[in-house]
Amino acid sequence: MAGAMKGRCHCGAVQITVAAPPAEVLRCNCTLCRKTGWRGGYWPPGEVTIAAQADAISPYVQGKRTITGWICRRCGCFTHWTPLTASPERMGVNMRMFETGEWHHLPVREVDGARL
Ligand SMILES: [Zn+2]
Repeated sequence: MAGAMKGRCHCGAVQITVAAPPAEVLRCNCTLCRKTGWRGGYWPPGEVTIAAQADAISPYVQGKRTITGWICRRCGCFTHWTPLTASPERMGVNMRMFETGEWHHLPVREVDGARL
């Protein structure tokens, strides 16, 4: 069993800690995921700690306004999202914020988000 994982945006202004690796990584083909390079890991919000100064991250809300995406204002990494009207029991973290060796071995689930 693996323990907590620690990740960060490129500049380090946003530090992310999760309780344990996710069971799978989602790769989605919707425009947002494609253009931000998103690789999704999902956890209950209580299992994710985001450490960042309030002015270090910028919210991005679009489309159906189901989630708030968070972007580091310094380096531009799309680090995580939190639910607005989407399922409140989970939030998403961009797995690319972790070292590749920590998640590249995990199963990948393809999501056809472009059709949703
Ligand atoms: Zn950054």
